[in-house]
Amino acid sequence: KQRFPNEPEYIQAVSQVLETIEDEYNRHPDFDQANLIERLCIPDRIIKFRVNWVDDKGNVQTNMGFRVQHNNSIGPYKGGLRFHASVNDSILKFLAFEQTFKNALTTLPMGGAKGGSDFSPRGKSNAEVMRFCQAFMRELWNYIGPDCDVPAGDIGVGGREVGYMFGQYKKLTNQFVGILTGKSQEFGGSLIRPEATGYGNVYFLKNMLKTRNIDIKGKTVLVSGSGNVAQYTIEKLLELGAKPLTCSDSDGYIYDPDGIDEEKLAYIMELKNIERGRIREYAEKYNVKYVAGGRPWSEKADIATPCATQNEINGEAAAELVKNGVIAVTEGANMPSTPEAIKIFQDAKVLYCPGKASNAGGVAVSGLEMSQNSGRLKWSREEVDERLHQIMDDIHANCVKYGTEADGYINYVKGANVAGFIKVAKAMMAQGII
Ligand code: NDP
Repeated sequence: KQRFPNEPEYIQAVSQVLETIEDEYNRHPDFDQANLIERLCIPDRIIKFRVNWVDDKGNVQTNMGFRVQHNNSIGPYKGGLRFHASVNDSILKFLAFEQTFKNALTTLPMGGAKGGSDFSPRGKSNAEVMRFCQAFMRELWNYIGPDCDVPAGDIGVGGREVGYMFGQYKKLTNQFVGILTGKSQEFGGSLIRPEATGYGNVYFLKNMLKTRNIDIKGKTVLVSGSGNVAQYTIEKLLELGAKPLTCSDSDGYIYDPDGIDEEKLAYIMELKNIERGRIREYAEKYNVKYVAGGRPWSEKADIATPCATQNEINGEAAAELVKNGVIAVTEGANMPSTPEAIKIFQDAKVLYCPGKASNAGGVAVSGLEMSQNSGRLKWSREEVDERLHQIMDDIHANCVKYGTEADGYINYVKGANVAGFIKVAKAMMAQGII
């Protein structure tokens, strides 16, 4: 805290992990001698650069670009790029730190990283987004590579942005290699990658409910966000017979008492991915409630799954969810619940899982995309989905193994942190002080 006083999200993420791994850490005196905690918490390196690009009016704009390479003990650096006005060192350091544990949980050989820019694609033309992505990659290309660091998408970075960055990397290096995941199908993308985070989130939720013999069918669900993760979370919820009631964007949320069905979801995908419109338009089209500036946590439902951004459920919202009888909370987003909210869920014995476990499906399929690219192969939809399902089941089993408490309550936070920590720590110890 003294060393990084201006980085609250990073301190929040690190504190949460350290609190839960203490017992495990104390069992290994050799970790202490190797100063493992500092070496694990502070990123290997942070690359920071200025990005110049020209807008449609001919004005030269500047943004900041970042890549935080956190830890590559178990595999090449891997983690998404976020393009959003709020991006700064603290947010990317928290995300890269979390990614290191998440990637370890997937069972695949991937280290942790995160990057991005304070550039926001919102309101920009296609041509402006392309020029920005090209300028961003002109700076980043030298620090990434298929065996070194393989970025992916995150908030504000979807298939379009990945495509433009991949094109620029290829132009600069004359190499067609898997340096980004989340690519389109035509040039090396994996089937199921766009769906993976949302689908994986629901596979995990199903496992959580199973521990209490609860069927997901017929359960009402509050979803936040309306981007990649929210859309495919809703799709899988519908497939399994659940009833999603809400979704949101940074301007507000909609509440649809009849449930968001397949047809309405198709409309959301068109609105958000093609027209790049606002969720308010859903409320206008289907004549349902819209709450400007609000988040959906005061609505009544069986399950909540935040899929927008960090710290979107605070203590007050968590208390309201618990009061309304929520039985499970599974995080599609990264760190959407504040420490106060997590404590409220856990004290109420709600099934609660942190994003580093429940949203690991996205990076898991990114890992599978890397394997397919290295082998110049393409697996079928069924094959990738089956592997994703298995990985989510394995992550759940690991959380149960390391997180079950004396009274039988599964502390998924502890389970995920300890399982991820042990793997990375052992790899670091074996590789010496480097
Ligand atoms: P998208 O950009 O596709 O969607 C993000 C959604 O969240 C949009 O609806 C956006 O609204 C909303 N949002 C963003 N910032 C805020 C904010 N400050 N307040 C309220 N709403 C906000 O991103 P993804 O769906 O890919 O990512 C969502 C979350 O999931 C992030 O936390 C990300 O780190 C995490 N995640 C994503 C993975 C992936 O594979 N994509 C993998 C693992 C985790 P608006 O349209 O107004 O911007």
